[in-house]
Parts: sequence; structure tokens; C-alpha cells
Amino acid sequence: MTDYPHLFRPLDLGHITLPNRVLMGSMHTGLEELGDFDRVAAYYARRAEGGVALMVTGGMAPNREGGVLPGAAGLFTDKDISNHSKVTEAVHNAGGRIAMQILHAGRYAYSPECVAPSPIKSPISPFPPAELDEDGIEKQIADIVEAARRAQSAGYDGVEVMGSEGYFLNQFLVAHTNKRTDRWGGSYENRMRLPVEVVRRVREAVGQNFIVIYRLSMIDLVPNGSTWKEVVQLGQAIENAGASILNTGIGWHEARIPTIATSVPRGAFTWVTKKLMGQVSIPVITSNRINTPEVAEQVLAEGCADMVSMARPFLADPDFVKKAKAGKPQTIAPCIACNQACLDHTFEMKIASCLVNPQAAHETELVYTKTDRPKRIAVVGAGPAGLSTSIVAAGRGHDVTLFDRAAEIGGQLNMAKMIPGKEEFHGLVDWFRTMIEETGVQLKLETEADVEALKGFDEVVIATGVVPRDPGIKITGGSTVSYVDVLTGKRNAGERVAIIGAGGIGFDVAEFLTHDGESPTENLSAWLEEWGVADPDEHRSGLDPEGPKPSPSPRTVSLFQRKAERPGKRLGKTTGWIHRASLQMKGVKMIGGVSYELIDDEGLHLTRQDGTKEVVPCDTVVMCAGQLSDRSLADALEAQAISAHVIGGADVAAELDAKRAIDQGSRLAASL
Ligand code: NAP
Ligand code: SF4
Repeated sequence: MTDYPHLFRPLDLGHITLPNRVLMGSMHTGLEELGDFDRVAAYYARRAEGGVALMVTGGMAPNREGGVLPGAAGLFTDKDISNHSKVTEAVHNAGGRIAMQILHAGRYAYSPECVAPSPIKSPISPFPPAELDEDGIEKQIADIVEAARRAQSAGYDGVEVMGSEGYFLNQFLVAHTNKRTDRWGGSYENRMRLPVEVVRRVREAVGQNFIVIYRLSMIDLVPNGSTWKEVVQLGQAIENAGASILNTGIGWHEARIPTIATSVPRGAFTWVTKKLMGQVSIPVITSNRINTPEVAEQVLAEGCADMVSMARPFLADPDFVKKAKAGKPQTIAPCIACNQACLDHTFEMKIASCLVNPQAAHETELVYTKTDRPKRIAVVGAGPAGLSTSIVAAGRGHDVTLFDRAAEIGGQLNMAKMIPGKEEFHGLVDWFRTMIEETGVQLKLETEADVEALKGFDEVVIATGVVPRDPGIKITGGSTVSYVDVLTGKRNAGERVAIIGAGGIGFDVAEFLTHDGESPTENLSAWLEEWGVADPDEHRSGLDPEGPKPSPSPRTVSLFQRKAERPGKRLGKTTGWIHRASLQMKGVKMIGGVSYELIDDEGLHLTRQDGTKEVVPCDTVVMCAGQLSDRSLADALEAQAISAHVIGGADVAAELDAKRAIDQGSRLAASL
């Protein structure tokens, strides 16, 4: 008897029965563009082995003008078909099923060749699109249909027609981007003609025994988006046109409301999908911020959907379904929704991976083999670098002892989890704790490992982390504290706070100090109100006409940096704007280009970029001026000629984050 009866109920699609209710949603990894299809096949096959019912590939372009970028992958040639056949064969051999997503980017294409219903440039691309004429529209339909036909020849079990997130088909649906007056614009019947026609002709081309998923934007979250009545009308028309399944899209890429970031509550938009249940008779899939079997089960049990889609959780752990089925959900590596190694990589034109699981999309290159020469390995420091080294090395069969002077594992992760909106870090620390037990790492907490204690090990790994940098500002009075003391609760901040340093931690501290009581991430209605999300039945597109209503900050906070650039510019590509918007809503002043002069009882004395001098009155100054490596133990070992591997912040402190620490630790452990 499974703990997740709804999750493990088969789903009959007529010509095929899916074994459970879990879809791996589309996630662009960049692997197809590399052209190494053995690697693409290994990536998907690994996830098929983990028992997911159906997977959807990253978006494949139907033609050049529809690609997200020049050179975007698609099934254009016979060679492409044979390459993709390797993928489908590997997936089928592993017992899985896979559908190919057809993604036409329309005006979101980062290319001068982009096309759209109307020549309106998107705010997220520099290229104004060309307006399509009747023949141009017919060509786009024909190319999408041909892509579906080729997907079928390559052995895919189906296709997903991407109709959400503000891409091409979505652009036809709403007046925001469709100003046409011909049969493809104007009335809603006309605006929805293209997506419906696409699905109708795709079905006609592929026959009945092929899955056709349509990804429908349930809540656009942009001005002049769809009404709920229109969403339902479209869903019904798409069903009549021959789709097998409706998948959910939440918000356009240009929406200024976060939809998948870690600060979005779990299952935050499943109530939207639930509104469509009973309005159509084909299965409906819900998505966004579902990352544990418990949440997935609850969403299904509450009737929010027939199936759940998870994309990033399958990067974090390909065995999500298998482990849930085996009653071991605590061993599932959690996706913390950070975007750091997946979406941020994609936007930086790098191959996607996962902060928690560096093997993701690197299956053929980062391999953890069982060792036939077990070693005694000492790891000092139970932060992300030391933890990942320990569990990978022990998982490979080594005898690992992990030391930390603290009473708890986690290192800097324990500070991250204190930030409102970063509650997912609790799950990450919990998972590391579970894996320490599962892999048999000997954990020695509250233990200072000195040189003597480390003698006799075959390998020594130093992951002692970082110490906060003292920026050396002259202090003659006032109250100055380090971020560590604030976040660990050792020191309280007053009502007026100046933060020195606007890196990731300066932003985190500002977030921490501008919240009071329950985090909105833990309270869905508070979060929806904070960001101005409304019921799309009441307000078109799900936008509250009164806008965001953040709860007031209990403190006046200013955030400073010396660099004369916009504070927060170097935060994650896909999440930096959320951190900035969130602090702006709380009235935080973010100021760059300053030089610090003095801290005294009056406050923080500084000089602005234009040379004006200023005293920022404050009760507390919080130092978030970066970190330095803690190399004391590494140096002591070196002095005695004991060789050690130095990793994580102890190796390089600058811009250290958990992604780099875990990647370095895992790679070292794979090589020992
Ligand atoms: P950081 O990102 O390197 O930022 C350090 C800040 O201190 C900068 O704003 C820097 O700006 C300032 N600073 C550096 N030297 C200074 C000095 N001598 N005097 C005064 N100010 C100085 O470091 P962090 O904020 O401690 O974060 C550590 C790592 O964790 C980073 O890699 C960060 O990305 C990561 N992290 C990420 C997130 C996230 O949301 N993704 C959250 C938390 C932490 P100026 O030099 O311009 O003054
Ligand atoms: Fe999830 Fe972060 Fe991994 Fe992306 S990088 S899959 S968001 S944990």
C-alpha cells in the first residue's frame, strides 16, 4: 500500500495507460544544441529509470524564426530525426515514455528574424518582431504540424504544443500582443483561432494513437491578458480539436510576479488549475512549485488536477517517483527552487544542471562508481562542500568521518534557511542529514578536528568555509553587528538599519529585517495579496487592479555598496529582479557608488558618488561585506607536510555559493 494513492493511480489515455500521475515538465538543458545525443539520451533515460510516467523534452523549434535563439534545436533534417531516435529508444528501453515539446517563441525569440501576430516588441527581447501576413501564419502552422510529424517518426510518444508563458500561440490569444483586425485577431473567437487550428491539424497529422498535450496559460499575469471565461472557452475548444491532455502554464515570462522562485509558496497556483476541473473532460495537469510527493499527493487528493507536472525536481533527483513509491521520500534530493544551476545557466547560455545534484545533465561525465579500494577519509566542515563530499564518497564505499565544531550540520545553509522566502533550505539540510545516515558517514559534531586528529586518514578534505570580512571602516560609536549574529539571533537590529554590502547576503539580511511574523511563503493568501495576484474569474489575467499590497516593514532599511552600479545586478539572472522588487515594496533604499567614512552614535557617515557627504541615521549597522577563506586548519596541515584537499569557501571565498561548493565537493568525492 503506497502512502500516495492518488499519485500512483494509473491514468488511461485510451491508446496508452500511464502508470502514475507524474509528468516531468519541459526543461531546457541546452544539451540538444550541443549535438551530443548520447548525452541527451543518457539524461532522459536516467529519468525514465526513476519511474516518472511521462516526460516532456525541452522546447524544440518548429522553424528558424520560431527558435528561442538563432541555432535553437529542432527536428529539421533526417539527421535530427535519427539523433532524436537515440533519445526515444533509450527512454523506451528504460521503460519510460517521452513527448517532444514544440516551442515557437514568437516575439520572445532572441533573434532579428522573430515573428508575431503584431509588431510589438516584448520587454524581454531587444528585437521587434515582424507582423505575419496570412501566408506567414499558414507557414507557421505547417511548420508546427511538420515538427509533430517528425517527432512521431523519431519515436516520441507524443508532443506538447507550447501555448503558454507568453510564447507565440499565447501572443495570438490576448489583446496585449494581438492587434490584428483579420480573422486571426479582434474577437476572442478570432484570437484563439491559431492555437485551436494548430492542435486540430497536429491531431489530423499524427492520428489517434499519439499523445497531444496542449500547454494552456491559465493565468497570464500581464495587463490585458485572458479572462477566466476565455481560458475555459479555449480549453474546451482545444479538447474538441483533439488534444489528449491540457497542461498548465502560469504567467508570461514578462510578468512581474514570481511564479516558480523559491519564495513562491509550494503549490501556489494549483487553485487556478482546479477551476478548470469539470469544465473539460480530458486530463488536466497542474504545475509550479510542486516539489515533494506530499504536496503532489495533496494537490491530486484535493481535486486540483488529474496529474502533476514537476520539471526542476527531476533535475534534483531523477529517482523522485521510485523513492516515493518505496516509501522513502526523505531520501529524495529536494529542488529548492533556486534556479541557480538550471534556469540561470540557460539564460547564461550554459548547460543546465542542478545546485543539489551536479550530475544532472552531466550523467555521462560525472559518474559515481563504487570503489574497489575503500579509503579512510576525513572531511572537516559540514557545510555544503563538506556534506556533498561526504555523502558521495561514502556512497561510493569509502569510510568517511565528517567533523564540525558546530552542534548541527549545514554551515552557511543554516543562515539561508532563516530568510523569509528561503524556507526550502530547511529541506536541503534535512536531506543531507538523512543521506549522512543512509550512506554511513560517521558524523562528529561539536568536535574540533586538529592536525593530530587528522593523522592516519588516507585522505583529508578541508571544507572549513569562510569567515565574514571586516571591511575596516572606522568605528567610534553606534551599534555595528555582523550578518552572522543577526541571522543566528545572537543580536537584534534596531528600527533604523544600514546594511554595508549589497551582495546575496546583504539582500538576504534586508529581506530578513523587513519581515515580521509569518513568512508570506508559508501563507498563500498573504503571498498572493503581497504580489497582487487575484482570482482571474474576478480580474482579467489574475492581476489585482489595486496592485501589490505588501505588509509594512517593521524597520527602515538602507542597503549600500561601493560599486557604482545598480545594487543586485549580480544576483541570479532569473531571481535578482524578484529580490529587488521585494525590497522595493518594503521601502528599502538601495544605493550604489558610496564610500564609507565612519560609524558613530549619529549613524553611518558616507560620501555619495557625486561627492556629497551624508550621515545615514541608524540604530544598527549590519556588516555584509563578503567573506574570507578560513584556511587556519589547511595552513596548519601544510606546515606539517600533510597533504589535504581544500574545497568550498576555504578554497576560494569570493562569490562562493552553495552551487559551487556542492559541485566541487561532489567532483572531488567522485575522484577519490
Ligand atoms: P558578495 O556577493 O561577494 O558581496 C559582498 C558585498 O560586500 C558586495 O556588495 C561588496 O560590494 C561588499 N564589499 C566587499 N568588500 C568590501 C569592503 N572591503 N568594504 C565594504 N564593502 C565590501 O558576498 P556575500 O553577500 O557575502 O555573499 C556570499 C555568496 O553567497 C555570494 O556568492 C552570493 O552570491 C551568495 N549568496 C547568494 C544568494 C542568492 O540569492 N543567490 C543569497 C545569499 C548569498 P562593494 O565592493 O561594491 O562595496
Ligand atoms: Fe531546483 Fe535549484 Fe536544482 Fe534548479 S538548481 S533544479 S531550482 S535545486
